[in-house]
Amino acid sequence: MEALTESEIRAAFVNCSKGEAKRLFVPRDLDTRPWADLDYLGWRDPKAEDRAYLVTEQSGRRAALVLRSPSVAAGRGSRNMCSICLTSPEAGVSLLVAPKAGRAGRDGSSVGTYLCSDLSCSLYLRGKKDAGAGARLHETISLDEKIARTTTNLAGFIAKVMN
Ligand SMILES: [Zn+2]
Repeated sequence: MEALTESEIRAAFVNCSKGEAKRLFVPRDLDTRPWADLDYLGWRDPKAEDRAYLVTEQSGRRAALVLRSPSVAAGRGSRNMCSICLTSPEAGVSLLVAPKAGRAGRDGSSVGTYLCSDLSCSLYLRGKKDAGAGARLHETISLDEKIARTTTNLAGFIAKVMN
């Protein structure tokens, strides 16, 4: 994806208030991120480990999500499969929950997905980060097809949050 600036990222949040989008933690090293190899940029708040965020852009449509780990300890180390990139990384998979956009979210409605705990799906797929032994199923499809599947899965999740 194309590199985004902090203000572009803050403006892209779909499932929190404008005030929260202004205050939440955004990494300061955005210009050193490997954007060309990212299907989405994901990060955690170093001061609040249960808070995670991601931003993506597909067909010119940008969306950023606020995510929460319902229990930080539970997902860690377990080798479930990430629902977005279908990797089972050694670093673990977390159940992350996104409040729904708009009124439904304010009323407490949310959607969850299993996601690589370190939000590194894009790098695992491309072999830029080692996910550990046995982390990926052997598949005959090409990298482009895996990337397409990942972005489709992510778009599906975002659609559920927006819905
Ligand atoms: Zn993943």
